[in-house]
Amino acid sequence: MSSNGNAKHVKVLVLGSGPTGYSAALYAARAELKPVVLTGMQLGGQAALTYTIENYPGFPEGVGGAQLGELFQKQAEHFGAVTEFDMANSVDLSKRPFKVTTDNGEYLADALIIGTGASPTHLNVPGEVELTGRGVSYCATCDGWFFKDKKVVVVGGGDSALEEALFITRYASSVTIVHRRDELRAGAILQKRAKEHPKINFIWNTVVTEVLGTEKLEALKLRNVKTGEETILETDGLFIFIGHIPNTQMFKGQLEMSDLGYIKVNEKMETSVPGVFAAGEAADPHFRQVVTSAGMGAAAAIQATRFLEAESE
Ligand code: NAP
Repeated sequence: MSSNGNAKHVKVLVLGSGPTGYSAALYAARAELKPVVLTGMQLGGQAALTYTIENYPGFPEGVGGAQLGELFQKQAEHFGAVTEFDMANSVDLSKRPFKVTTDNGEYLADALIIGTGASPTHLNVPGEVELTGRGVSYCATCDGWFFKDKKVVVVGGGDSALEEALFITRYASSVTIVHRRDELRAGAILQKRAKEHPKINFIWNTVVTEVLGTEKLEALKLRNVKTGEETILETDGLFIFIGHIPNTQMFKGQLEMSDLGYIKVNEKMETSVPGVFAAGEAADPHFRQVVTSAGMGAAAAIQATRFLEAESE
């Protein structure tokens, strides 16, 4: 790392500290490129907020999300990656080295690897924002404990909703899953576990239209999408797991993206700007697994290495 004015000049800058970012950093570090990882808001990314990860190869008994994140970090740092607890706010990809402005300063990067991941989608109904942190949550591992012996509602029908609903049963007295269809999107194993769980029940074909409460969450207004019938359901907690949006806002207008905001990459993780690579959930609307994100991160770093090598030949 060298200084250019106040900016730090690095060969490879990695944005994001999840499975994507640290896998990229591991490969770039082993190529002796001394990558710098900007952690972003959440060290370890979304995976670090997951209680147990059962489908990352090499851990037959499963592994804690936070623990896996620490292992990723430790392994990358062992080979020379540097972690900076910093957040990128804007980028200038119009010329190289690329300029990245952060909370704490400025970086110039010969190659950039984007692993900024995704954030939970909101319901966008009245009361949701006001009561977030007062009964409304997007993270069961973070907040599940607060709902000991309480009634909790989970919204969503995908893997996240069911996995997190099962986790919350450790604490809550009951977990009601509200889903907008009568068929779950989640995988078969999770469906079976949730349907057989004595604390879990389902409300089908139903959406939350309002989150009610003054100081804290008290109830939800629900609407059956088939009959139009509206009901009030009292609850202490609302956990929302209805998908994710990619954290790619700052690249808008500079990189080609899909309509949903995923960065377009080719099979080599190359974006529309040479020298900028993207991997993991910022670029992947299809798989969004720890193992696929890690794989994409590694591929991005291999390609970044080739890109820098070709230049120095
Ligand atoms: P997802 O698969 O996109 O599921 C989102 C769920 O929320 C769907 O059931 C969807 O309903 C519902 N939904 C979306 N917008 C809604 C709205 N406005 N109001 C009410 N419901 C709404 O998202 P995810 O569960 O977060 O999973 C994301 C990816 O991560 C998936 O590829 C998943 O396989 C993966 N993942 C895997 C694991 C695992 O393997 N253990 C764990 C977590 C996540 P519809 O079904 O009607 O569309």
